[in-house]
Amino acid sequence: MPLRFFPEAAFADLPCPIPVIAGPCSIESREQIRETMRRLLDCGYKVVRAGAWKPRTLPGGFEGVGEIGLEWMREVADELGMWIGTEVCLEEHARAALRHRCDFVWLGARTTSSPFMVERIAVALSEAEDKPAVLVKNLIAPDFRLWRGAIERLRRHGLTKIVAVNRGFNLGYHGLLRNDPLWEEVDHFRSELPDLPFLCDPSHICGRCDLLPEIVGEALRRSYDGLFIESHTHPDSALTDAAQQITPEAIAGLIPDQPRTGSGTLTTLRSEVDRLDDALIHLLARRQALTKQIGEWKHTHGLAPYQPDRFEELLRDCSRRASLYGLHEEPVQELFTLIHRYSLATQEEEEEKKHHL
Ligand code: PEP
Ligand code: MN
Repeated sequence: MPLRFFPEAAFADLPCPIPVIAGPCSIESREQIRETMRRLLDCGYKVVRAGAWKPRTLPGGFEGVGEIGLEWMREVADELGMWIGTEVCLEEHARAALRHRCDFVWLGARTTSSPFMVERIAVALSEAEDKPAVLVKNLIAPDFRLWRGAIERLRRHGLTKIVAVNRGFNLGYHGLLRNDPLWEEVDHFRSELPDLPFLCDPSHICGRCDLLPEIVGEALRRSYDGLFIESHTHPDSALTDAAQQITPEAIAGLIPDQPRTGSGTLTTLRSEVDRLDDALIHLLARRQALTKQIGEWKHTHGLAPYQPDRFEELLRDCSRRASLYGLHEEPVQELFTLIHRYSLATQEEEEEKKHHL
């Protein structure tokens, strides 16, 4: 699904085979946004994202420069021939974005979750003669109905240039990634909305730069329609999301020349196995999160992590189920012994921490 409502020129000089919208998490100063846009343009990226209002989880941090930031962006965009967009969280943001002729706006994860706010923003945007494109990020929690609701709400107000953005979900537990991309679930959602382009925002999924190539590769493999990436001229001193921003020059290095779709049977089968392994890892993470809760319960009720009866029952059940599916009992028992040992280690570790409090 091409991003057809951007003029062809917007993505004409890209150094990579997929549309990229890039820019800093926040507009910080006139000089910063000017230098960033210039360097992005030098690299071939002409469509720029930058937050003028930052919805911070906790108060007291940098909350954005506000409307003046859009004035600075517009000035550079007109001068250099670029396309710009910002996050709108309130209807007055939407009106300000229109005043500065933003080519697109986005609803952030926190805004998409609020039907009243989406409604007000939709009304404000619908009053424009030349309506901007609206990018709708998923909510922080995996509530696909609300995400869809926001999209439909915008459409009802005559906004037709809609794009969805996967920025990952907070599932209450996490490993290295800041937010879980829930690839499979989002693919299902994509299949329900076949007319809607989907972008991947690897920056908010990863939360740190070293993980970006893997997530970008996966987005390409899953044929996302574009990338929405945070890029800063001096990432270390960025006022928000410093750990996940990369320089404009580094973006192209994240993107493989050829999407890793593969063609041979072996590649196809292997990628299917990769998906299953990914699902297994997800399940393990969920299992570990539950294990921690069980550990707490045991701790408050004076039970030790290892309970032999429970372990025997678990092994018996798993072997029985394994043989139902034609699996050999012995390796399955070994596997679950290992998984169980890992759970106990986690519970012991948590107990140990409590001891030291
Ligand atoms: C952002 O894109 O800078 C942002 C705040 O995103 P999200 O709403 O996904 O957290
Ligand atoms: Mn950000």
